[in-house]
Amino acid sequence: MNSILIIILIFISINYLFELLLDVLNLGHMSKAIPNILGDVYDTATYTKQQQYKTETTKFSFILGALSFVVIFLVLYFGLLGKLHAYITQFELSSVFTTLTFFGVLFIVSQILSMPFSIWSTFVIEEKYGFNRVTPRLFVFDFLKSILLAVTLGGGLIALITLVFQASGQWFWLIALTIMLLFSLLASALYSRVIVPLFNKQTPLTSGELYDDIKELAQKVGFPVNKIFVIDGSKRSSKANAYFTGFGRNRRVVLYDTLINSMQNSEILAVLAHEVGHYKKKHMWLNFALGGVQMAIILYIFNLFAQSTDLPIALGYSNATEPIFHLSLIAFGLLFSPIEHIIGIATNLMSRRMEYQADEFASNLNYGNELISALKKLSKESLSNLTPHPAYVFVNYSHPTLFQRAKKILGTVEQQTKK
Ligand SMILES: [Zn+2]
Repeated sequence: MNSILIIILIFISINYLFELLLDVLNLGHMSKAIPNILGDVYDTATYTKQQQYKTETTKFSFILGALSFVVIFLVLYFGLLGKLHAYITQFELSSVFTTLTFFGVLFIVSQILSMPFSIWSTFVIEEKYGFNRVTPRLFVFDFLKSILLAVTLGGGLIALITLVFQASGQWFWLIALTIMLLFSLLASALYSRVIVPLFNKQTPLTSGELYDDIKELAQKVGFPVNKIFVIDGSKRSSKANAYFTGFGRNRRVVLYDTLINSMQNSEILAVLAHEVGHYKKKHMWLNFALGGVQMAIILYIFNLFAQSTDLPIALGYSNATEPIFHLSLIAFGLLFSPIEHIIGIATNLMSRRMEYQADEFASNLNYGNELISALKKLSKESLSNLTPHPAYVFVNYSHPTLFQRAKKILGTVEQQTKK
């Protein structure tokens, strides 16, 4: 057996077992005593419901994780990716079309395999706990639109990168990096204007008591009030949310209608202040810069391996006499996965720091207590786990836990009252 393939199989097995271990630890930690300051989040009945929901979603992810692992392991073990490539080459397409066909087949197969799980999650689990608002019709339209997006954007990007790969040799990584950075800038500029409108309606707040309150806060912090939008999240789920997106002219804060309907105005302002905090602390640019550095490193290392035929051979294409972009890319991605995992942990660490900073920004505007009560409501309404395992949080959480955030915000509030 090919030694690179053995390494890849070991990596994906370790990765699977590691994630499984974290899930098991987290499940075991779920029913631990709730910290005092979070005692008022759930009443007894809702807490029971939360525990059932969490158990059910974790079991679901156990099954999904195990099946994905088995499928990927067998595909690699039997060299099916190499066989697929060999099959496609029979048609003697240009190499860009060979790559597009290859990824196209993988895309279709993965969509077919994941469809039953997506249906089960939406129409059985989320439905059972009262979250789901998606109708079968909306589900189908969402699916078709996301396919169309993936095919045009993903397909276009892959075609472009493949062309660059053939033409540029040792400078591939630098040219590809430039393309990827421009692409992600463009995507972030177009996200709210082009992509979100395919799925949701966003309306600027125009009048009313909430508008007046928001206007006052917006003026105080120097964030244009016409960049604050309400999105019809209730179309799909009863879960509430808010987010900040975009750069420069394209920046905006988006509040879910479900958030507005379930909270007091002062709590909505607190959430808004948190989101504006992300903007004030330049978190989008920081994320973009860090993402760019990460991409540069990955592309540079990939470039070192990409010209060899060892990677395609490891995936089962033993006739490889020249570099094959798509096979090398997948094999490299798998070999790089342990480092990717570490980068993911570092990214989450960074992201949690940013959340603390945004919370602090809101607390400094005197919204600390309201922010805590808003976060508690959000947790309650999405049946969040109040006692996740610390190891699970360390690896997987992009936001600190409710307990960590509440404790930190209370600290800031206390400092202010002393002043
Ligand atoms: Zn945030």
